[in-house]
Amino acid sequence: MPEKFDCIVVGAGPAGTACAYELAKAGVNVLLLERGEYPGAKNVMGGVLYRKMMEDIIPEFYKEAPLERPIVEQRFMLMDKESAVTFSYKGLEWGREPYNNFTVLRAKFDQWFAEKAVEQGALLVCETVALECIVENGRVIGVRTDRPDGEVYADVVVLADGVNSLLAKQLGFHREWRPDEVALAVMEIVKLDKKVIEERFNLEPEQGCTIELLGDATKGILGTGFLYTNKDTLSIGVGTLLSGLIKHKIKPYELLEYVKNHPMIRPYLQGSEPVEYLAHLIPEGGYHSMPKVVGDGVLVVGDAAQLVNAIHREGSNMAMTSGRLAAETIIMAKTYNDFSESMLDHYRLKLMESFIVQDLKKYKDATHHFDSFPQYFERYIPLLNRAASQLFTVDGSSKWEKQKTIWRDLGSVKEKLKLARDVMKVWEVMK
Ligand code: FAD
Repeated sequence: MPEKFDCIVVGAGPAGTACAYELAKAGVNVLLLERGEYPGAKNVMGGVLYRKMMEDIIPEFYKEAPLERPIVEQRFMLMDKESAVTFSYKGLEWGREPYNNFTVLRAKFDQWFAEKAVEQGALLVCETVALECIVENGRVIGVRTDRPDGEVYADVVVLADGVNSLLAKQLGFHREWRPDEVALAVMEIVKLDKKVIEERFNLEPEQGCTIELLGDATKGILGTGFLYTNKDTLSIGVGTLLSGLIKHKIKPYELLEYVKNHPMIRPYLQGSEPVEYLAHLIPEGGYHSMPKVVGDGVLVVGDAAQLVNAIHREGSNMAMTSGRLAAETIIMAKTYNDFSESMLDHYRLKLMESFIVQDLKKYKDATHHFDSFPQYFERYIPLLNRAASQLFTVDGSSKWEKQKTIWRDLGSVKEKLKLARDVMKVWEVMK
């Protein structure tokens, strides 16, 4: 390992690899450190990969990357115990070039992406844990690793080490995340015949579908479940705020078993065989929880910077874009040979102007709002299901009578007013 690099990137997830790829392409001497046996070995995602942000880095990547299926349909199920109100968008244009998004399996995808960074000239070193940043006179000048000859130096270090980012924490960039700032997601990949998947999800060959599950999928706890189609596997999972799990004293694997056996989901999984069980944290604190992202000689990207839009289940796209923006900043800093915090602050400004911080700002109060008012999941989703059942049951009563029954089911005048206020509040936090 040479002693000094232009840049060290810690973590070969989408954020770190995007950064290393862009730097290496520009001729920057970059070391990409990964603790896993190979990139992706420890990484978890549902997972939907967004074409646009990946193409900003590698145009037409979909012609060679190990992708599962292009998604042509996004469904949403608002679930009660024995029913679901479902809505969806299906667009065949998403199944053709240039596509919209794809399902991926991270173990394959991350490995491929890191190989592309290596082709550009990045040095990838796996099975190496970055233990801490080496700081001199307040400036990060390198990284101490768990290797015997473990110190490596660089002009600038990029922390792309994921949600816990121990290195950013050691630098004092963020505190320990609170249980209402991180979700714990558990998922299984289950094997199922390709043709059976296509029949069950009403797909043509090579088309994919995602289903987001709300309400009873998480037993009313704030969070979502998901069911995604891969080539010959399905990804089934559930993620809820840690605070919700603690409050309801539920173990995450119990929730996963619950959703797998839910009568609305069980038929999709029938005959499938589990092949992998995964668990991971997701940073969901949003805008209010964003840590400091630049310092002298150091930048923070991806999950390590809490860049996840929980409402739209976007994280990999924000990770890649933040990695790319960090690389652009480093390339500029290199031309001035200035890696001070004020120079690297251009990265923070780029983030602020990008869709990343714009979207985090848009939903800045959403998670907290839904977490504080459990009635949305616990009361209103079952109410919606009962209303749909009432309306669509043909039993000889007139539609006026049905309307009255639904109205009565909304509760007392006080409860109806509360419902109206809650609907307005949703508009306020989501607009
Ligand atoms: P990570 O992917 O976590 O990568 C961090 C890397 O750093 C890892 O490779 C890790 O091994 C390495 N590392 C950590 N510490 C060290 C260290 N000290 N030294 C060396 N290496 C280290 N996003 C979407 O866009 N779409 C989805 O459908 C989606 N679904 C999700 C489902 C689940 C169950 C989960 C958990 C997340 C999901 N996300 C999804 C979020 C998405 O996975 C993340 O936002 C994204 O992976 C962040 O990328 P990253 O590179 O910042 O971090």
